[in-house]
Amino acid sequence: MQILYGLVLAIIVAYLAYRAHSLAKSGALAAALVGTIIFGMGGWQWAILLLLFFITSSGLSRAFKKRKQGLNEKFSKGNERDAGQVFGNGGLATLFAALHTVYPESILPWIGFAAALAAVNADTWGTELGVLNSTSPRMITDLKKRVETGTSGGISLWGTCASLLGAAIIALPAALFANNWYLFPLVTCAGLAGSLFDSLLGATVQAMYYCPTDQKETEKHPLHTCGTETIHIRGWKWLNNDWVNFACGAFGVVIALLFI
Ligand SMILES: [Zn+2]
Repeated sequence: MQILYGLVLAIIVAYLAYRAHSLAKSGALAAALVGTIIFGMGGWQWAILLLLFFITSSGLSRAFKKRKQGLNEKFSKGNERDAGQVFGNGGLATLFAALHTVYPESILPWIGFAAALAAVNADTWGTELGVLNSTSPRMITDLKKRVETGTSGGISLWGTCASLLGAAIIALPAALFANNWYLFPLVTCAGLAGSLFDSLLGATVQAMYYCPTDQKETEKHPLHTCGTETIHIRGWKWLNNDWVNFACGAFGVVIALLFI
């Protein structure tokens, strides 16, 4: 029965997000699937964490649009998230919700779920709020080197604080629902670690491209926003932004489980 409620709730949320242009068609279908499993197999506590991530990250992507104009082309996708982005951000969390039905007595699936969501939320908050910073970020692999705002692998104190807050927003209800306050610092730190790992991959092995027309580095492939075909300049070709987001969540989970 609960899975049916999950299905109905997930379809409503995915449809509203599609209408609001937060999700593309493939993204809405993927979100309906992810939502059905998380709402249906986890329960309302799981649904609240997922919704917190979904609503704050879509909201922040849309907020401060004027100030972010021109930056968007640096990122591989616009505001309408597709299936790859949904699974990259929510795939791991979905797996933990399914694990909860296999091991209902264990708290580990809940911790893994919260850590995975805290990491992708920290990453989104850091990216969306970090670009509002007026001073340029520094490269995570070389803190003496300043890079253009929006560059993958660029970090700033401001953006890191935003990441910390994004992780804490997930960690707070995670601790509250489990009635275990130890989870608050644990999930917050795991989330922050995941987002820093995301930046590290962005600076090193993530696939990066170059648009010859705009003479700019970009994550977009095969075509840039201007329509020009982009050229691969560094990183592993298969490691696109969706896989980097997945790795961000996975790293958060590993850190959380290590500290238990
Ligand atoms: Zn271009």
